[in-house]
This record gives sequence, structure tokens and C-alpha cells, in this order.
Amino acid sequence: MKIGIILGDQLSLSLPTLAHLDKQRDRLVMAELADEATYVKHHKQKIALIFSAMRHFATDLQQQGWQVDYYPYGEHRHRDFESLLADHYREAQGIVVTHCGEYRLQQRIDQQWSASCGVEVTCLDDTRFLCAPGFFPRWAAGKKQLRMEFFYREMRRHTSLLMEGSEPVGGKWNFDSSNRQPYKGKTPLPPVLTFTRDAIDEQVLALVAEHFADHPGSLQHFQWGTTSRQAQQALAHFIEHRLPCFGDYQDAMITGEDTLFHSLLSPYLNLGLLDPMAVCQAAEQAYYDGDAPLNAVEGFIRQILGWREYVRGIYWLLMPDYAKENRLGNHRPLPSYYWTGETKMHCMAECFRNTLEHAYAHHIQRLMVTGNFALLLGVLPDAICQWYLEVYADAFDWVELPNTLGMVMHADGGYLGSKPYAASGSYINRMSDYCKHCQYDVKTASESDSCPFNSLYWHFIHRHRGQFSTNHRMKMIYRNLDRMDSDKVNAMLTRAESLLANPDLL
Ligand SMILES: Cc1cc2nc3c(=O)[nH]c(=O)nc-3n(C[C@H](O)[C@H](O)[C@H](O)COP(=O)(O)OP(=O)(O)OC[C@H]3O[C@@H](n4cnc5c(N)ncnc54)[C@H](O)[C@@H]3O)c2cc1C
Ligand code: SF4
Repeated sequence: MKIGIILGDQLSLSLPTLAHLDKQRDRLVMAELADEATYVKHHKQKIALIFSAMRHFATDLQQQGWQVDYYPYGEHRHRDFESLLADHYREAQGIVVTHCGEYRLQQRIDQQWSASCGVEVTCLDDTRFLCAPGFFPRWAAGKKQLRMEFFYREMRRHTSLLMEGSEPVGGKWNFDSSNRQPYKGKTPLPPVLTFTRDAIDEQVLALVAEHFADHPGSLQHFQWGTTSRQAQQALAHFIEHRLPCFGDYQDAMITGEDTLFHSLLSPYLNLGLLDPMAVCQAAEQAYYDGDAPLNAVEGFIRQILGWREYVRGIYWLLMPDYAKENRLGNHRPLPSYYWTGETKMHCMAECFRNTLEHAYAHHIQRLMVTGNFALLLGVLPDAICQWYLEVYADAFDWVELPNTLGMVMHADGGYLGSKPYAASGSYINRMSDYCKHCQYDVKTASESDSCPFNSLYWHFIHRHRGQFSTNHRMKMIYRNLDRMDSDKVNAMLTRAESLLANPDLL
């Protein structure tokens, strides 16, 4: 008898482990382990979602005829897989697992699992992604510079998504320039999808409330689907109600509107409850059926076929050294409001509220508000990476790390963007209504009530002149800085210095 280990983000019936084993002869093992649940302080909703989805998936497997040994949290004494395997599976004829999504755990699989129980471990390639195993390193080999856009075009050709022969549908690869509208309230917002909770959900929510009370976030607004059927409902809901306007308002932010037209599909994709190809094809079909415009469909497919696959490629290409990168030499701690949500900066407070209430924030909230602020402040990449890994329901190292360390902090020298995504308050003002509700003045930079993003932005530009002044995409910014009146520049830099001395007071 062989043992197949199913990890918490491997909840797919198409998992290679299942194809490799025989349900008449072999057994599957699933375990809720203290080490995995606590190696960082995951948001309560993230733990509840994963445990509940695991329990539902185990039931699905049993219904399909598999024998599953399930170890619920608190009902066994094992902190990690090594201890579990050593105690129960020394007699197995082999252990089978699919390559995991985190370098940390993969190291343990490769180096410790076999030693702990004396049984051979077979680790299979994870084929649940759109990029075939080995494709990304081959694509990257010999290139001086890696850019998502070129990888994405290659993936479009490779998958034939939105292609007419060798040409992109609509004659352009990218419709991003149409996808930057602020939301002015004229288009009705989509309905919110809710799910009825079953006994498994209720048990898990109670367990998390009891055992993880000191973890961030609240369970009160838990709205995630926890079964593959609910994940399918979420996809259908997105295609019908949200996709048509997804492109137009992709970068918009509005007070009190936590999701706008975003899909909320990332946790289901990352747990394996949704197949990325099926998701892209559903969006593509909506375009061919005339139910969604091309700018929306292309923009959505680019996120999954392009960004999601690209960040995964970068992660496995560059780990483990990637996690240590800090090219801008940042060292500041994360201000306390990242945990409490209590700040006078209205944009930040809104993003923290969404994060703590829902274990969710959409991309622009993560990138251009909380991420941008950490970049301008010069937070230690490790500290901000850990925060993003902890607080979002969709956070797994392979996708969180490149997005934070690379895209937000530009700590890797530019694999995720040819220039840093640094912005002053005027970007936030253009794309949201946040500044209208804020105690700070977005129009000024050096007064005591000036928007902190403004002076910190120019301080960032000024202090990194050595790194960025020769970047052709930033030359104009340095020209603007050099043309400014020197008294004005000094006043802004003085204000920024005072904010940097006490960022917790903002
Ligand atoms: C600092 C930072 C940290 C992030 N951490 C994570 C993370 O831990 N897990 C995660 O899945 N995404 C992460 N992202 C990417 C993105 O913000 C989320 O995928 C998205 O907000 C999830 O919400 P949604 O499903 O409503 O996305 P939508 O806006 O509806 O996008 C559709 C899908 O595209 C994919 N996608 C979009 N952008 C990205 C991206 N940059 N990288 C990878 N996939 C993308 C997701 O699967 C998402 O579900 C991060 C982004 C930033 C800036
Ligand atoms: S004024 Fe500045 S701090 Fe306030 S909401 Fe606008 S960008 Fe954020």
C-alpha cells in the first residue's frame, strides 16, 4: 500500500497524486497541522477557509471511493508531517505527493520526509497550472531581461486563448489603457454572492475562533465558498455579474465598496478548487457570446494566464535567494496600523478594514495603497512580505512573495516591473473617492496636514536617485524634481523626514 499526501492547496480531483495511485489499494492522508497553521499568524478566515475546504474535499474523495485518513486540528498530537509519517506510515510501500507551492515545505519534503519514516518519497510535478513544468525556465534561459508582457504573449500563442490563428483577437495583445477608469457611481454595482453554511463550516469556524483567537482578522464576515461546487458558483456569478465591467473599473477604489467588479476567485484558484484554464475559457466564451467586452475579458485573462503564471515562474526560478533580496536597502519596521487598521489616512484605513474583515483586498488596494506606502516608507521587505502572507485568504508563498518583494517593494531589481510602482496621493485621488473623506490634504505636500503619500513620494524619488535616475521610464520624474523650486523641495523633504521619524503617528 502506498500513501498519497494531499496538501491544503491541492484540493483538485485532477491532482497528479490521485492519478498516480490506485483507490482500491492505496490510502490518502490529509492533516490539519499546527506547524502549517501557525508558522506565520494567518488571518482567521484563511485558516477557516483552508480547513473547511480540506474537510469538504476529503468527503468528495471518500464519495469517489478513496480511503482517506483525515487528521482534524486538535484531535491528534502531530505538529508536522514528519511526526505524522514517522508514527503511522513506516509500513507504507511508498509516499506520493505533488510538488508543493512553497519552497520552505518543499525542502522538508525533499530532505526530511523520507528520513523520518524510512519510506521512499515520490514527488510529482504539479500540472494544474497553465504553464507546463519546465516551460518557464526554458523561456527565461538566455534572456537579458524577463518581462511579463512577452511571457504572456507566448502563453496566448501556446494556449490559443483569445487568438485568431497567430494574431491576438482584436488586433492588440493588451487593452490595459482602456482599463483605468475611476468609478463614478453611474454603473450599478454587482450583487454580492453569499453561501449557506453547513455543519462542516460551522465546526471549523468554531474551532478557529477557539484555537486561533490571537490571529489577525475577524470571522464575522466569513463569505468564502468552501466546496468545489461553491467555487463553480462563484465563477458563474463573476462571469454573469462582474466580468462585463471588470476591465473598466479594474483600478478603481471606493469607500465602503470592498470588491467592486473583481472576481474574488483567487482563493479558489490557489486551493485547487478551480482550474485556471476553465476559468479563462469561461471568460473567453463570454466574449464570443457577446456578454462581455474585449477589454474586460483580455484584462481578466491576462491576470491569470499572464501574471499568475509569471509570478509562479519567477518564484521557482529564483528561490531561495529571491526571498533575501533587498536591493533598495530598506530596513524600517511595519507601522502598527497594518495590524490594527487604526490610522488617519483614510485610504489606508479602508484597505485595512477590508483586509481585516474579509481577508481580502483587491489588487489596486494592495499595490497602490498599502504596498505603495510600505515602499515609500522603506519597510524591510521581510516584514511587509510576512504581512501579506498572513492577512489574505489567497496568500501562498509562490504568489505572495514575487508580488510583494518584486512588484511592490522593487527589492528584486525589476523582474515584476521596469520601474517601481511608487505614487503620490494624486494617483489615489484620481482612482478613488478616498481623499474626499480624509483628514489629510491631498493637494499639498509640506504642511502639517498634507497627505503623507506626497512628501514621502518625493523623498523616495530623492533618496533613490542613484538607482533610478538613469531608468528611461523615470527620467521625466527626475527632470520634474530638478525643476522644482529648491525651497519647496526642502520643505517637502523636511516634512517627509518628520513622518519617517514617527510613521506610527499617521
Ligand atoms: C502585494 C501584493 C500581494 C499579493 N498577494 C497575492 C497572493 O498572496 N495570492 C494571490 O493569489 N494574489 C496575490 N496578489 C495578486 C492580486 O492582488 C490578487 O490575486 C487579487 O487581488 C485577488 O483578488 P481577485 O480574485 O478578486 O482578483 P481579480 O482582480 O478578479 O483578478 C483575477 C485573478 O487574476 C489573478 N491575479 C491577478 N493579479 C495577479 C497577480 N499580480 N499575481 C498573481 N495572480 C494574479 C488572481 O488569480 C485573481 O483571482 C498580490 C498582489 C499584491 C500587489
Ligand atoms: S489624502 Fe492622502 S492619505 Fe488621505 S486618502 Fe488621499 S492619498 Fe490617502
